[in-house]
Amino acid sequence: MDLKSKIRVIEDFPHEGISFKDITTLMQDGVAFKEAIKQMAEPFKGQHVDVVVGPEARGFLIGTPLAYELTSGFAPVRKSGKLPYEVVEANYELEYGKDTLQIHKDAIRPGDKVIVADDLLATGGTVKSTVDLVEELGGEVIGVTFLIELTYLNGKDKLTGYDINSLIKY
Ligand code: AMP
Repeated sequence: MDLKSKIRVIEDFPHEGISFKDITTLMQDGVAFKEAIKQMAEPFKGQHVDVVVGPEARGFLIGTPLAYELTSGFAPVRKSGKLPYEVVEANYELEYGKDTLQIHKDAIRPGDKVIVADDLLATGGTVKSTVDLVEELGGEVIGVTFLIELTYLNGKDKLTGYDINSLIKY
């Protein structure tokens, strides 16, 4: 199945010059959505995975079905102030200014095998912070996986040394 054809590309959203990759059109198609998650799970089949970690918000949409497919747990990474229990946090750079991501401090146990999942790799800042949070808690990141990768932004450079997978490339 041509999964790329299921992505809706909207130019100049949310700002001029951004080519926005809209995954809602893929998710609306049950067969395509299932196929995408199945393909994302493929490299990890036969490996023990304790937890999939996904950053707010579209990391939840991809990370939870992936966790279900791999029979692993799922842990959310959220913007500051959203998680109710004790957290650890990481700051990361945005286009303008900074933001903070948090994870519950008991979301990962030392030695847990973790996959970090998100919808899209752009500059890599979001997922790098997510990886840092997992490692701060003693988790071992055995893979980093994306539905989409914008190869021209070289986000992989922030993630050297990790096993990186992406299904759809631009
Ligand atoms: P980054 O931290 O730069 O890798 O940005 C990653 C996050 O921003 C992803 O979780 C996406 O949800 C979102 N994002 C960045 N660029 C785009 C784009 N061109 N189309 C859709 N989402 C994007």
